[in-house]
Amino acid sequence: MKKFLKILGGILLVIIVLFVINFWPQFTFNEDSMNQMESDNFTLYYQKEEAAAQDAFDLVEAEGGRILESLDLEDPEPVNIYLWDNQQAFQRYSLGNIGQLFGQPWMIGGAHGNRLSMVSPADAPLGQHDYESIKQTILHELVHAYLSQINPNLDLWANEGTAVYLAQQLADLQPSNLADYSIPSLEDLSVSNGMKFAEMGGYSYANLYVSYLVDNYGWESWRDYLYQGNYEASFGKPQSDLYQEWLTYLDTWNKNL
Ligand SMILES: [Zn+2]
Repeated sequence: MKKFLKILGGILLVIIVLFVINFWPQFTFNEDSMNQMESDNFTLYYQKEEAAAQDAFDLVEAEGGRILESLDLEDPEPVNIYLWDNQQAFQRYSLGNIGQLFGQPWMIGGAHGNRLSMVSPADAPLGQHDYESIKQTILHELVHAYLSQINPNLDLWANEGTAVYLAQQLADLQPSNLADYSIPSLEDLSVSNGMKFAEMGGYSYANLYVSYLVDNYGWESWRDYLYQGNYEASFGKPQSDLYQEWLTYLDTWNKNL
């Protein structure tokens, strides 16, 4: 028994040490060490890349109002945006000292409630991202921040689809972009793991899903779903029916382009 407790204590100690090592960047983070720009709705913190930070700030100022209006969010809580000069600094801060080893090249931003963490556009190009697409991703993360104020329990599929749709990131999506992915099943639409979502082409498919519902049922119905999270209440039919309609739409979309 004593030996067992010793082993258990040892394992716990290792876990605690690894935890502290991993999250050390967060524990020691001091936002006063960063430069900042401020408006009523945003505070943007940045490291050295001032021109790119100004560009990003101008974009959220210009587009933030449209996004708020679309979401019908009148009195938003202010959002803090942290812009890291490069992807390594971003992943160290957001994933931790150990977690960053598992960072993926496509990870350039994330939202936790009203805190957005992003790679500065100044670090472009990054994988398939250029300066402009990194900037658009800041709007994408901003949509997540506002959605978390509207409905913290919103499903990942609707959350990501709305972020891509409102940030207008895939407005000119072509079927050839989806050649590597099979069409998600109805069950796939309930995915809760972000990695899995990305691997099944979720960003593209969820964007097409939102586009279909908005074009055919109106933005108000979709917005109502974002608030309620209930398809029957917002569309008068279950998600399985909407999913079948969406499959037909995907088929025509594929042929028409
Ligand atoms: Zn997202």
